[in-house]
Amino acid sequence: MASNGALDARDRSALLSRLASERFDVLVIGGGITGAGAALDAASRGLRVALVEARDLASGTSSRSSKLIHGGLRYLEQFDFKLVYEALRERDLLVSKLAPHLVRPVSFLYPLYKKVVERPYVGAGLVLYDSMEGTRRPVPRHRHLSARGALKRAPALSPDRLAGAMVYYDAQVDDARYALTVARTAAAHRAVIGTRLSAVGLLRSADGGTVTGARVRDEETGRVIEVSAEAVVICAGVWTDLVHELAGVRAGYRVRMSKGVHIVMPRSAVEADTGMIVRTEKSVLFFIPWADHWIVGTTDTDFAGDRAEPVATEADIEYILAAANRVLARPLTRADVIAVYAGLRPLVDPNVSGPNGAKPTTKLSREHVVDVPVPGLASIAGGKFTTYRVMARDVVDAAVAGFGREVPASVTDRVPLLGADGLVAVQPAAGRLAEDYGVPREAVEHLLGRYGTLATEVLDLTRDDAALARPLADGHPYLRAEVAYAVRYEDALHVEDVLVRRTRLFMESADSGVSAAAEVSAIMGRLLGWSRRRRAAETRRYLELVSAEHAVPSMDSDSAPSLALAAAR
Ligand SMILES: Cc1cc2nc3c(=O)[nH]c(=O)nc-3n(C[C@H](O)[C@H](O)[C@H](O)COP(=O)(O)OP(=O)(O)OC[C@H]3O[C@@H](n4cnc5c(N)ncnc54)[C@H](O)[C@@H]3O)c2cc1C
Repeated sequence: MASNGALDARDRSALLSRLASERFDVLVIGGGITGAGAALDAASRGLRVALVEARDLASGTSSRSSKLIHGGLRYLEQFDFKLVYEALRERDLLVSKLAPHLVRPVSFLYPLYKKVVERPYVGAGLVLYDSMEGTRRPVPRHRHLSARGALKRAPALSPDRLAGAMVYYDAQVDDARYALTVARTAAAHRAVIGTRLSAVGLLRSADGGTVTGARVRDEETGRVIEVSAEAVVICAGVWTDLVHELAGVRAGYRVRMSKGVHIVMPRSAVEADTGMIVRTEKSVLFFIPWADHWIVGTTDTDFAGDRAEPVATEADIEYILAAANRVLARPLTRADVIAVYAGLRPLVDPNVSGPNGAKPTTKLSREHVVDVPVPGLASIAGGKFTTYRVMARDVVDAAVAGFGREVPASVTDRVPLLGADGLVAVQPAAGRLAEDYGVPREAVEHLLGRYGTLATEVLDLTRDDAALARPLADGHPYLRAEVAYAVRYEDALHVEDVLVRRTRLFMESADSGVSAAAEVSAIMGRLLGWSRRRRAAETRRYLELVSAEHAVPSMDSDSAPSLALAAAR
């Protein structure tokens, strides 16, 4: 039943005719982690599923997070034990079974400055955190360090007032790649996944009561098609209110946007062999190891601007630098920052009355909210990346409840993502694969960490075209084959898709991937039949995106940044 889930950008017209001609059980609107999860959940129950994403998979919040799969230590302080327990169970499931190739344990050093008060308090929290893990324990327990021990692990810390530290473990992920892999796994279970397809209206039954599908605009051509489905599921993150509006429904909750900014720095800027989490006045600041870089953040400010392109302000960046410098011996400066990105948290405000003042149908499940505002339509918002699988299950349960026939329960806790199966047998073969394909061993290891067992699919592309075995950008592990793979298997339609999300050169390279843009355009153009003029236009479009991102406003138009509690989401 399951195939390799290839999302081949060259098959777009076939994709569109399938969407327009087939009748689906479930149509998912939105291709972030929640929508991709819902598509996989429904498809693996044997349902006919379609998903439409207005831009690129994970182009919203799901590529702009802190990239942690975690219980959320801070929720313990709020006594939200159930939430932490659920998130830790999900973390352990992903690390050990569903996606060991993508979700990896990461250690965090928590420096202590008030020995007598802090150590027992933080220590007790971590004992609880560790005890909530399942019995398989895929990540190690926390440990206590002396001040000397802390400085050994993190010489970058200022020794002033340092009384000791704790080290605990969570997990991290490339969020965009993870969401893409979930979408591909859904496709492997026969879901039809399409990008640059915006839902612009909902279809209704003759009596106007039931939602029966959606009108969808192809953003590449402007053509509008109708997609029929027994149930439509809205997974539109911070766009949820807008989709409710275009559906003409009033849901039992609204979504509030909160902006979070991260800065990216080279690993050499902060000497430490572990991630770090430090307390700030209102919340915490993470130093997250990211290959040869650090990701440091985040902020939490109300936001009311352009949902599609939230930008960081100088004030956001200065705020993060100042918070980091409170604990570092050598202060970081603006010159250390090679990239900045901003994302929007879709926070739910459930205190909204339902249609005509009636009791809302909203069901609050911990942090996420599921609503069925009219028959045939279910929507979900809130939650976190870590708990996407539970969210997906809940919204699909709500959608199929109206089917009037039995639908199997969710099975995604037993469905490993593409690339996970057989990993243990492929990892030790890295050296042999490197020899067989004539690429450096590090390149194979890099591919295994991004594609799992599908790494050989990427390498196979170099058999036909040896030039694809060459690196894409100097000093970075990405191969040119990954560009071709992104088109043939991962539905990349534009240069941006490859440089921002299929690879992460946009945030990892000092030039934001600009020097690789023409090569990416050339490789994509050969596969997608782009003319010379189109290739140049695609390259230019990417350069314009980079300059827009770099035009950092000096003042925050929304409000002053306040590293507030949601930082640890
Ligand atoms: C700064 C920050 C840090 C975070 N860190 C973490 C973390 O470390 N760990 C964690 O667990 N969580 C974290 N989160 C939370 C997590 O990232 C989000 O909860 C999650 O990514 C939301 O995913 P989503 O699919 O609901 O929304 P999105 O990823 O935004 O997806 C919604 C999609 O819907 C599409 N869409 C909208 N309208 C339409 C339409 N009309 N037709 C078709 N498609 C449409 C959009 O284009 C978009 O791609 C963080 C969030 C932020 C902002």
